[in-house]
Amino acid sequence: MNEAKTTYHHYSGIIHVHSTYSDGQRSVPEIMAIANELDIDFLLLSDHNTLRPKFDGLEGWYDRVLLGIGCELNDHLDQNHYLAFDIDEEIDPEIPPEEYVQKVRDLGGLGIIAHPNENRDNIAKYPPYPWTKWNTDAFDGIEIWNQMSEWMEGLTHTNKFWRVLHPRRSIVAPKTETLEIWDALNQKRKVVGVGGVDAHGHLHRLMGIITIRVFRYKISFRTIRTHILCKEKLGKENVRADLRIVYKAIREANCFISHQLLGDASDFMFLAENEHGSAIIGDSLPWTKNTVLRVHNPTAAKTVLIGNGKVVDYRNGQQLEFPVTEPGVYRVETHIKNRPWILSNHIRLQ
Ligand SMILES: [Zn+2]
Ligand SMILES: [Zn+2]
Repeated sequence: MNEAKTTYHHYSGIIHVHSTYSDGQRSVPEIMAIANELDIDFLLLSDHNTLRPKFDGLEGWYDRVLLGIGCELNDHLDQNHYLAFDIDEEIDPEIPPEEYVQKVRDLGGLGIIAHPNENRDNIAKYPPYPWTKWNTDAFDGIEIWNQMSEWMEGLTHTNKFWRVLHPRRSIVAPKTETLEIWDALNQKRKVVGVGGVDAHGHLHRLMGIITIRVFRYKISFRTIRTHILCKEKLGKENVRADLRIVYKAIREANCFISHQLLGDASDFMFLAENEHGSAIIGDSLPWTKNTVLRVHNPTAAKTVLIGNGKVVDYRNGQQLEFPVTEPGVYRVETHIKNRPWILSNHIRLQ
């Protein structure tokens, strides 16, 4: 465990942010100044259907924080939102989702299905934008937790004051439906799970009189994080090389997701060990009956083991060990105060 913790560099990231290039309320430099006030290492911007901030040369390091620029695509009905990173060419938003998913793949990009199971009818101005095209499998990942979707879906007339006053505490858990789809997909192939904030800095009008910025960027950035584990260090000398490291870790699923409100998860680690060696989150190891899964939690907490989509075990503590009795895909969730704090990607024992 200690060896793995020293072999890998950990970086804490914010994924899925909108700026004034689409419907966000702050400019890219303003957003990056806010990110620099927090313990963030990288941020991935995804304005709607445009790579203009990238073409304008805004990608790169802003003091301590690396900015990668992609976009969020949608179809002509404004459904099937798709985060596309690591591409240098804009994609025609008029083509069907199956085609833009394939196009991102053909361009060598990183494609992630955004808020796949969005479902709400409580705000007429913001209908749900779910994913409906599960017939394609050329995507790399899915956003298993979207902060803005969860906040808006849970909004009712009776709780809206509480939710406006406590935006971070209203973010509780990813959707079970999404986790089930993610687990099922991973039993067929690797599909990375990421957490997105979907930050816009939107204003919210309460009772038509008071206007409040509910999710200021600074608040969004202190909720759902995607943490990556990389063998290489971000050198800060070559932006493209550094972004390649970030995108590779995400593609490989060498990452985990946390809710920052419940504590800093940077120190988390999950790996598998047996006589063949070891594998960290996202990696594979040949299965043998001596395989042990190890978890290091940043602080003692309850950790649930999910194997092939089913809860198979749970333990309490900081350093945990789970024996595994059969091959498959395994992930863990560490809970604090009975809510998910850290969700790992899958380790594959084949
Ligand atoms: Zn969206
Ligand atoms: Zn979005």
